[in-house]
Amino acid sequence: MKEIILTGDRPTGNLHLGHYVGSVQNRVALQNTDFDKFYIMIADTQALTDNFNNVDKVKNNIIQVAMDYISAGIDINKVNIFIQSQVPELFEMTSYFLNLVTVSRLQRNPTIKEELKQRDFVKSIPVGFLTYPVSQAADILAFKTTLVPVGEDQLPMVEQTREVLQSFNNTYKPQNPIFNTPKAFLNENKICQRLPGLDGKIKMSKSAGNAIYLCDDEKTIKEKVMSAYTDPDHIRVSDPGKIEGNIVFAYLDAFAKEEHFKKYLPDYRNLDELKAHYRKGGLGDVKVKLFLNNILQELLAPIREKKLELEKNVNDIYNLLFENSLKASLVAKATLEEMKEAMGLNYLKLLK
Ligand code: ATP
Ligand code: MG
Repeated sequence: MKEIILTGDRPTGNLHLGHYVGSVQNRVALQNTDFDKFYIMIADTQALTDNFNNVDKVKNNIIQVAMDYISAGIDINKVNIFIQSQVPELFEMTSYFLNLVTVSRLQRNPTIKEELKQRDFVKSIPVGFLTYPVSQAADILAFKTTLVPVGEDQLPMVEQTREVLQSFNNTYKPQNPIFNTPKAFLNENKICQRLPGLDGKIKMSKSAGNAIYLCDDEKTIKEKVMSAYTDPDHIRVSDPGKIEGNIVFAYLDAFAKEEHFKKYLPDYRNLDELKAHYRKGGLGDVKVKLFLNNILQELLAPIREKKLELEKNVNDIYNLLFENSLKASLVAKATLEEMKEAMGLNYLKLLK
């Protein structure tokens, strides 16, 4: 069976390097495979669950995220990029699925736990926020998704989706299977599954202000790279340095290729050699940071330039998003009909 691919991002800011390695790179690779359908959802309604008092931020970032996708290589002829709120069937599905999940199950979700802490929601949890994994299950199941390219923080959400699916099947026993069982699709490179933020504390995230954005300008990228957390005990160049927890090396693990060494740092053949020198002592942070800066500038310059070009025609992109949302809505509607049939909610059949 060919894959039905669905993934998405919350329009809470521009896309950053974490999105790029965690999910966007895989999406670009997957769009060149022989898939059945490919959707990317801009999750505005989900973003409102922790930004309900900042609607403008969510609204204005829809176009930013859409432009980021296209500038980073998503092909709009192959992939349907749509807006979650424009597919109302998803919310009707969510209502039915909410009955199949307990509050304690949601409170045990490790990503939710971490996000509650970050957002200071621990004492007073908005119901919408706590239940967003159920709404996300609806997003995934509505399109009969088989594959979800995501970062590691989304694994509990995909797991939750499979539980909702099982519970639906056990409860309503549809005659024919309605949904496919979705699998998460992670980057093979471990560090890319959860790219840490510049501060070295938590994952790179729009909400944490610790990100390098795909559209950052040259100067900002350099400033951010130079500010990245390294080894606080590596004070003099001659000191031995630690690689573990060192964000500059984490980013090199994610982005450095042998060709970069040939081009920008020919004294070393590869990252292992550079790490060995750093561990031994005699290699300063500035040299390593300037190397990383070269790599990131080379990666991000074409993405930034493409975005500047796209900004001239935002109406075309909005129109595309609205048209795509209508198409997505038809697909979700068909699935919803199947669900309601299985649940016995086909009231029209009461008419004699
Ligand atoms: P927010 O702070 O608003 O939650 P975010 O930066 O976490 O934003 P999301 O829109 O929640 O971004 O995530 C979209 C996708 O990007 C998900 O698949 C998520 O796993 C992935 N992703 C986000 N941050 C990272 C990261 N640091 N490393 C790898 N993947 C990431
Ligand atoms: Mg997030």
